[in-house]
Amino acid sequence: MTQNLVVIGAGMASGRLLEHLTDSDPCAYSITLFNGEPRGNYNRLMLSPVLSGEKTYEQIVTHDGDW
Ligand SMILES: Cc1cc2nc3c(=O)[nH]c(=O)nc-3n(C[C@H](O)[C@H](O)[C@H](O)COP(=O)(O)OP(=O)(O)OC[C@H]3O[C@@H](n4cnc5c(N)ncnc54)[C@H](O)[C@@H]3O)c2cc1C
Repeated sequence: MTQNLVVIGAGMASGRLLEHLTDSDPCAYSITLFNGEPRGNYNRLMLSPVLSGEKTYEQIVTHDGDW
């Protein structure tokens, strides 16, 4: 039976958690994800290289909106 799962925050921890949950059984949960930022998950550790111009934002996205 599919369970409803609500997650607040599309940060690094929730991205890894949802990856783990959907890897083990993609249909186990009907997931609703709320985020305070208008984007999906990205690797926050890599923000400094983005701000210094070494990387683009697209290069640090771990799970985009479609995911
Ligand atoms: C520039 C920078 C460099 C860093 N470098 C390192 C490093 O080298 N090594 C290291 O170990 N750590 C580093 N960190 C810290 C690391 O990024 C954090 O420890 C990690 O991102 C925490 O993960 P998290 O999922 O708990 O929270 P976050 O990744 O902060 O995600 C939380 C998410 O929840 C959302 N949110 C919060 N409140 C609400 C709400 N009320 N409603 C909806 N959404 C909400 C936020 O918008 C955010 O998207 C760095 C952080 C920064 C900013």
